[in-house]
Amino acid sequence: MKYLEEFSDPELARRLLDSIREVATRPWAIMEVCGGQTHSIIRHGIDQLLPNEIEMIHGPGCPVCVTPLEVIDRALAIAALPDVIFCSFGDMLRVPGSSADLFRIKSAGGDVRVVYSPLDALTLARENPDKQVVFFGIGFETTAPANAMTVYQAKRLGIRNYSLLVSHVLVPPAISAIMESPQCRVQGFLAAGHVCSVMGTGEYPALAEKYRVPIVVTGFEPLDILAGIRRTVMQLENGRHEVENAYPRAVTDEGNTAAIAMLRDVFEVTDRSWRGIGMIPGSGWRLSDKYREFDAEARFDVGGIHTVESTLCRSGEVLQGLIKPHECAAFGKQCTPRNPLGATMVSSEGACAAYYLYRRLELTAASHA
Ligand code: SF4
Repeated sequence: MKYLEEFSDPELARRLLDSIREVATRPWAIMEVCGGQTHSIIRHGIDQLLPNEIEMIHGPGCPVCVTPLEVIDRALAIAALPDVIFCSFGDMLRVPGSSADLFRIKSAGGDVRVVYSPLDALTLARENPDKQVVFFGIGFETTAPANAMTVYQAKRLGIRNYSLLVSHVLVPPAISAIMESPQCRVQGFLAAGHVCSVMGTGEYPALAEKYRVPIVVTGFEPLDILAGIRRTVMQLENGRHEVENAYPRAVTDEGNTAAIAMLRDVFEVTDRSWRGIGMIPGSGWRLSDKYREFDAEARFDVGGIHTVESTLCRSGEVLQGLIKPHECAAFGKQCTPRNPLGATMVSSEGACAAYYLYRRLELTAASHA
């Protein structure tokens, strides 16, 4: 296959669905880790086309959603400082902090800028030597190499007015945390293909073995996802728990070795809180000692951060796959993409936003029936 639309071919999708129906003999709960996969599943109605035996549980793989409130509030405080240019990707601007979001800070006079690459922030730092330029570096292993590159270049070029507010999170420790939760119902994982395209698959065999759970590296198009589900169901039905690569056009066992070398140089593993989930040991990256001078958290003293979460929002349960978005009483009522109470309603990868975008009408009709 050469073109993207071929990965949505209805005839091939029907054959894959038939094959899943043939192999599934009992109920299985499979988690897609990545928010991009969640959106594809809901957008294309894949979960509704699957046989009743197969339940898709939406995982925590939305970088915007899991960035802790404390970090959002810190970003807001730094962005409000005079002589700071605060740079971020656009999807972070509407993520609610305790009492505001970056849009509110911008409208109140803060210099908040949307950039399309972290290297744009570095360029701004070079062009504005009298300002402090901060980039909001969030996300999984996928976005980390480009963020690491900015710090590497800032050090190499002597750009001292640049810093990174780091909140990177890692997928394998999250899989461990999900499997060790007493409420865990997950029996198989679709691993995030783009994360593995950077990091390779080397960390997953130990997880599959320890938790006796199949892990199938999966892409994002409908046929990718159906192929990943089919392989996972086949393993479950056969009592196997292996790592399989169903996304070989993008993922190799060793990953992107140049990116991994950059990450190992710039970052070191740290404990990290996930919004709605809590602390997961060893689940994040922070700047290594060699680059610590570029850490925005250390550079700007914004005092103590006191967070206040919405009492209505159940995004923690959504992120752990314990409830579906429409089971939250605020869904589509107090909480919409225009007025989000939680990050899962803001992000383009958030499960609540996906249900609102693609299922709102049918869920509303069902609740009125
Ligand atoms: S619908 Fe809104 S309030 Fe409910 S869990 Fe999702 S983001 Fe939170």
